[in-house]
Amino acid sequence: MSKRKRLCPQCKIHRFRVKNEKGDSVVVIVTEDYEVVPIHEDVSLEGYDLTVLYCLGCSWKGSPRSLPL
Ligand SMILES: [Zn+2]
Repeated sequence: MSKRKRLCPQCKIHRFRVKNEKGDSVVVIVTEDYEVVPIHEDVSLEGYDLTVLYCLGCSWKGSPRSLPL
């Protein structure tokens, strides 16, 4: 069963980046349960800051908790 994805509050897309200390980024989605999941399943989020999301579609930046469904 697939879960609903949370949307950017500004541009309504559902893809975001998370970053690590080195400045690398991984593209993720956020489920309705606020779980941050990489879109490519073989990618690890270890070392990435999952508390700050950067929208791929606009300049929005914020926490998973601030995303609407
Ligand atoms: Zn956006």
